Amino acid sequence: MKDKQIKKLIKAEGARQKKVINLIPSENYCSADVLEALGSIFDNKYAEGYPRKRYYGGQTYTDTLEDLAKDRALKLFKLSADKWHANVQPHSGSPANLAVYLALVPIGGKIMGMTLTAGGHLSHGQKVSMTGKAWQQISYGVDPETEVLDYNAIKEQALKEKPNLIVAGFTAYPRMIDFKKFQEIADACGAFLMVDMSHFAGLVAGGVYNSPFDYADVVTTTTHKTLRGPRSAIIFSRRDKKMGEKDISTLIDKAVFPGLQGGPHMSQIAAVAVALKEAARPAFRKYAEQVVKNARGLADELKKLGWKVISGGTDSHLVLVDTWMNGKGISGKEAEAKLEKAAIIVNKNTIPGEKRSPFDPSGIRLGSPAETTRGKKEKDFRKIAQKINKVLRG
Ligand SMILES: *Cc1c(COP(=O)(O)O)cnc(C)c1O
Repeated sequence: MKDKQIKKLIKAEGARQKKVINLIPSENYCSADVLEALGSIFDNKYAEGYPRKRYYGGQTYTDTLEDLAKDRALKLFKLSADKWHANVQPHSGSPANLAVYLALVPIGGKIMGMTLTAGGHLSHGQKVSMTGKAWQQISYGVDPETEVLDYNAIKEQALKEKPNLIVAGFTAYPRMIDFKKFQEIADACGAFLMVDMSHFAGLVAGGVYNSPFDYADVVTTTTHKTLRGPRSAIIFSRRDKKMGEKDISTLIDKAVFPGLQGGPHMSQIAAVAVALKEAARPAFRKYAEQVVKNARGLADELKKLGWKVISGGTDSHLVLVDTWMNGKGISGKEAEAKLEKAAIIVNKNTIPGEKRSPFDPSGIRLGSPAETTRGKKEKDFRKIAQKINKVLRG
């Protein structure tokens, strides 16, 4: 590379990544093949539209590429192309969610999503997000005692509020989600059910987390978290589901382009295709199993050392810890800073029923995907827990 400044920064970031223990649950290390596709000459090509319906010429290989990525997406999650449609063009998770709402919820309509402090994502209708300005968020939380989803309470609220769409799938919720219960709730109030599996898509692909596909109308996912691909997103939609006269999959395609985006990032789509094939291998199943084992080991050890683990543990890749413990411990912001000095990277996070602020919340969020990619096992994660304990109490 001739650009010395950028080259230096890339090198420095590489060294930083190598040096630290990365416990950010939404991060991962994708393969060299994924990066090669991402940096490929497909980046030079404009391909506005969809395969065989483009606005520019020269699409011989882009059409094949996009079709392949869609096929691989369906295959990985064992979906038949008669029943499900995949859109691989969203540039990232938030625009994917925005596209679904644009397609299925009239402006001003109601999106029922989890509140931020309990583990919801900004793009599930939070006020500061476009999704909370164009639509009204009906927010639900978790049971204050058990810190897990209370399906009866959610159902009661849904029947009262009659949202247009319910979002299940969160950004800081460590437990298993019962998608069948969510489907019953959505059916009871006449709402669409969208599952945002951004965080746990890799665990679904690896067969260690409930699959939402038997129950949801739409499934969105990022591809760069547990799925271990490039930064991107996919929207899956049921072909037989309609809104009025129209198929929802057609409406969603139109919402992505021309509704929200222009040309698809073809190099990104190439990289997604590579990652989807990697995730279909038996080795990825092993990886997903290890991710959950490692997170469980981390949670268990932290509990033994006297830390308050939200909901008492985890069924996934993610562990939420109340470090503040009503003033007996330290704040999430302080914990994050102290750990970074010890080369352990985590992110501060709100906890259910948060009494502090999102900028200096009561907890931290930890995850196992990145370090599991680097080959760490349960005993390593128990050691990491001991190191965290020492740093936080030091
Ligand atoms: C990460 C995440 C997103 C957004 O992804 P971006 O690519 O950062 O826009 C959306 N929903 C959930 C649940 C997430 O965890």
